[in-house]
Amino acid sequence: LPEQEAFDIEYWLLEEAKLQRMPKPKSLAGRVALVTGGAGGIGAATAARYLSEGACVMLADIDEAALASTYDSLAGTFGKDVVRTVQMNVTDEAAVQAAYAYTAVEFGGVDILVSNAGIASSAPVEETTLELWNKNMSILSTGYFLVSREAFKVMRTQGIGGSVVFVASKNGLAASPNASAYCTAKASEIHLARCLALEGAEAGIRVNVVNPDAVLRGSKIWEGEWLNQRASTYGTDKEGLEEMYRNRSMLKRNVLPEDIAEAAYFFASEQSAKSTGNIINVDAGNVQAFTR
Ligand code: NAD
Repeated sequence: LPEQEAFDIEYWLLEEAKLQRMPKPKSLAGRVALVTGGAGGIGAATAARYLSEGACVMLADIDEAALASTYDSLAGTFGKDVVRTVQMNVTDEAAVQAAYAYTAVEFGGVDILVSNAGIASSAPVEETTLELWNKNMSILSTGYFLVSREAFKVMRTQGIGGSVVFVASKNGLAASPNASAYCTAKASEIHLARCLALEGAEAGIRVNVVNPDAVLRGSKIWEGEWLNQRASTYGTDKEGLEEMYRNRSMLKRNVLPEDIAEAAYFFASEQSAKSTGNIINVDAGNVQAFTR
């Protein structure tokens, strides 16, 4: 190489190395996220991802004890100033409104909503009581409506747009054995997201959906009724179930809470600025495959 060219390359490499060492600007700095079901599982993993990008996070959940321990862990890692908790049942209209009011007091508003709080409880259709049906509908379908309605009010008033992320389910697109109430409620979340995407677009409020396939690790859902209710189909051996889900997926991998958090981060960030009314299935290729 001519001497000047070699010098230029060396200079460029040094500059590049300097850039690599510089702290990268945090992509959610100055943003406030309210995460329902934030006390554990997918919600807590999403909160951690947002905090790592500089957001302030309000963890909203019905489970006070779980909120306290998740707060300790996140505040220990990211600092006490950027995390708050509020006990809230997503089916309680007044409690949802109070949670937004508290978030405004603590952090000044809401730019990102992650609607994620949920249960999974189902049965064969003949055994599905009205109570069980209504439980799924009220926590999932109605709960998602209530928290996003309040998000829309706040975001419109703020006037700078926002991002609403629904954690729905692969079961909102495809049927799952003996789970008509859960699947129908999840399908309604997905369609609610499409309707809200249309309503929010002009104000710059984007609404998108992340559909997990089975996330067994860290999820309370897989410790309770859901597992027992499906024992006749799948058994209750969690490791065996993980293996079953892994084997039937295209990628032969299990989905983890952090994988859902990554997709929820994409939809919250400017990287997805041109995306609304859309779905990411985080499923290792399960939705599109007939491998079972
Ligand atoms: P999880 O049980 O670990 O977390 C759900 C959280 O929601 C809990 O902290 C719970 O206390 C809270 N919650 C439940 N009812 C509530 C209510 N009425 N008001 C407020 N908070 C309430 O489960 P997860 O696996 O993290 O599930 C999160 C979301 O992901 C749910 O909507 C679930 O349907 C969905 N999902 C999970 C899976 C999976 O396999 N884990 C798969 C597909 C979709």
